[in-house]
Amino acid sequence: MVFEYAPAPESAAIVDIRPSYGLFIGGEFGDGHGEPFKSVNPSDETVLAEIACADEADVDRAVKAARTAFDTVWGPMPGAERAKYLYRIARIVQERSRELAVLESIDNGKPIRESRDVDVPLAAAHFFYYAGWADKLAYAGFGPDPRPVGVAGQVIPWNFPLLMLAWKIAPALACGNTVVLKPAETTPLTALLFADICRQADLPPGVVNIVTGAGATGRTLVEHPGVDKVAFTGSTDVGRQIARSVAGTAKRLTLELGGKAANIVFADAALDQAVEGIVNGIFFNQGHVCCAGSRLLVQESVAGDVLDRLKTRMATLRVGDPLDKNTDVGAVNSAAQLQKIQELAQAGEDEGAERWSPPCELPPQGFWFAPTVFTNVAQSHRIAQEEIFGPVLSVLTFRTPEEAVTKANNTPYGLSAGIWTEKGSRILWTAQRLRAGVVWANTFNKFDPASPFGGYKESGFGREGGRHGLEAYLDA
Ligand code: NAD
Ligand code: MN
Repeated sequence: MVFEYAPAPESAAIVDIRPSYGLFIGGEFGDGHGEPFKSVNPSDETVLAEIACADEADVDRAVKAARTAFDTVWGPMPGAERAKYLYRIARIVQERSRELAVLESIDNGKPIRESRDVDVPLAAAHFFYYAGWADKLAYAGFGPDPRPVGVAGQVIPWNFPLLMLAWKIAPALACGNTVVLKPAETTPLTALLFADICRQADLPPGVVNIVTGAGATGRTLVEHPGVDKVAFTGSTDVGRQIARSVAGTAKRLTLELGGKAANIVFADAALDQAVEGIVNGIFFNQGHVCCAGSRLLVQESVAGDVLDRLKTRMATLRVGDPLDKNTDVGAVNSAAQLQKIQELAQAGEDEGAERWSPPCELPPQGFWFAPTVFTNVAQSHRIAQEEIFGPVLSVLTFRTPEEAVTKANNTPYGLSAGIWTEKGSRILWTAQRLRAGVVWANTFNKFDPASPFGGYKESGFGREGGRHGLEAYLDA
């Protein structure tokens, strides 16, 4: 007997979305002087709000506000005092967590279950964690008296809007830097709500500035001569442009770019658990995850079995309304991203891989893509090489551990990887040989503020999170 799910919608009444938003500079919301743009709800394509766009003069004002705050208040403030503000921000993020989660799901399309249970709690955890470091920087291993770098220019993507903001802002502030942050143009709303949280926390004006806009605003920010440190998360293409523009300047740079992670399942693995890990690895957040386990490498002797179990499990995934608490897979963030996913999936078919999706009804409005798995994938296929950034899994097989490692490392990226096996010695053998910044064993997509995260090769450089994450924001 199968029980049907009743709808379980989270109420949107808790959020108050204003018709238009300005820039947050020097502690005040004000007009932008670029062409305003709109953020939509990707699950139904309704316009949510009009957002100000920062032009060069606006970015310049924001950087100057950050400089003034750095020189006069935040830089000189003892770490123990800065910590109090970070704790306060963490507590307010918790207090307003429902509002933040609903707003994130509305603006981004991700399921409320994920924004409520992952994005927002982890964002708060980052502020708590780095608050704890603010008065202990002399003991962090970066010299007896490490100093802040100055003004940080930070540009973030749309896949984890509030969480990426927390990854960027919390360590920067803990170390005594001030920031100008640009959220992604399709998901600016939680960053603007965070600006309100900064005011609520009485954070001194200019310590956090939020400038909205698209790529041009981001470029203006990272190229601004008053920025001492650039932190970017996003595509490898834009990361390259930024590396070029920063080269030859005194600016510090960290880049967190794309990935094409291998999720390796050995024949001795607990297969049902592995299937849960595969599903979490690629369908979490609609696959809009830089460290997604988008290449499944499964040992040949269990490949059929794993595929059968995976398909059975995929048939239970519920795709639809992001605000429904039963939803597993929400909306794709934008029309442009949907088009990119569709194009790569088509390339998979054209190159001869076999495509499968469970029967699932997609809503008529909005941007949707059914969970998809490709078998008979060759290493040369585009779907095995390029980051799809969507709910699309490419399955390859291997016979020996050596072959698994060779195939796993056969990518220009190196952000993450997963290993599934009963044997601890095999985990260690494999992990040592994988060229990836994060290697999960018998789990996937686990995050903790105490644990560093970052890439090898074209996935970027620098670490965020943990003690390591302080380094980018300190001058030893
Ligand atoms: P993107 O790199 O274009 O955008 C990321 C951020 O950079 C946004 O805020 C954007 O406005 C800004 N930006 C764009 N051009 C810029 C420039 N020249 N200088 C400075 N900032 C600039 O990424 P996207 O278009 O949102 O997504 C494209 C692809 O990027 C995805 O399909 C995926 O492959 C990858 N991606 C990776 C991550 C990650 O977490 N590593 C996140 C999002 C996207
Ligand atoms: Mn949006």
